[in-house]
Amino acid sequence: MTVTVAASLDEVLEVLEARPGAEILAGGTDFMVEVNFGHRRPRSVVCVSRLPELRGWREEGGELVLGAGLTYTEMMLPPLAERLPALAQAARTVGSPQIRNAGTLGGNLATASPAGDTLPVLAALDAVVVLRRWGGERRMPVGEFLVGPKRTALLPGEVVTEARVPVGLASGPPAVCQEFLKVGTRNAMVIAVASVALVVDWVGRRVRCALGSAGPAPIRAREAEARAESSMDWEGRRLAAADLDAFGHLAGEAARPIDDHRSTASYRRHAVTVCARRALERAMAGPGWTA
Ligand SMILES: Cc1cc2nc3c(=O)[nH]c(=O)nc-3n(C[C@H](O)[C@H](O)[C@H](O)COP(=O)(O)OP(=O)(O)OC[C@H]3O[C@@H](n4cnc5c(N)ncnc54)[C@H](O)[C@@H]3O)c2cc1C
Repeated sequence: MTVTVAASLDEVLEVLEARPGAEILAGGTDFMVEVNFGHRRPRSVVCVSRLPELRGWREEGGELVLGAGLTYTEMMLPPLAERLPALAQAARTVGSPQIRNAGTLGGNLATASPAGDTLPVLAALDAVVVLRRWGGERRMPVGEFLVGPKRTALLPGEVVTEARVPVGLASGPPAVCQEFLKVGTRNAMVIAVASVALVVDWVGRRVRCALGSAGPAPIRAREAEARAESSMDWEGRRLAAADLDAFGHLAGEAARPIDDHRSTASYRRHAVTVCARRALERAMAGPGWTA
């Protein structure tokens, strides 16, 4: 097996071009599980975890640029956590401290598990995924990148380098309130049975709601979003109880859940309904809620 510990993004792109089939290793928290279970037998590996180009985050051209190498631990730290509280809440629910130190945003995106915790958050934030290959770059909304369970639009030779979020949705409370709620079979080290990410932009008067573990890929609950936007008292930050109920109900209706060993489809739909309503209630209450 050939292993390249790349020192630069250019080196990664060169290796992917020169060795078709070379597999990308970031934090290894999904990759090595597959290797250890014998589900993956890589012949050529290129490690991206130390690349400065993929690390951290920055603001650029009206967008918050999240490097593919951003770890869960980093997502939980201010000032990023203050600007993207839903991402920080999602990161706090992931695995253990060891997993959160090693696991990355890019790895969560490329694994494309229906239960990937950052994915509904990125969907609710209208994130765009940036893919680089030798001599080129593609950008696409996260909803187009994630094409199904464990399936992405990533082509051979491409690497995820960034997810870009419009600054308008990333200014943090009180202008933009965000929530992430996850239901699992226990409180820690748990794969989501269902999750909801919510972004309420009080300045732009926008509501964004995405569901996790409730379909083959994250689902935007667009009818629920439209209902909340049209019935919200934007000045008073209030919504009638019946409209809150309707929001939860429409979010539940948007789910496309399945029965599996973790849950039934009907429980998943119920969990989405309750979590969506609760998330919106919390967003209206403003900062001060703790997950
Ligand atoms: C004990 C445990 C608990 C976990 N708990 C959770 C949880 O609660 N929620 C959750 O969502 N996940 C969880 N995970 C899964 C995992 O931690 C995440 O999916 C993590 O984000 C993967 O990132 P990584 O850097 O470790 O990726 P790796 O394991 O290195 O790679 C994962 C996949 O992505 C590809 N890849 C990685 N980086 C890139 C890139 N930049 N461009 C293109 N392809 C790339 C790799 O080739 C591989 O196919 C858990 C895993 C473990 C072992």
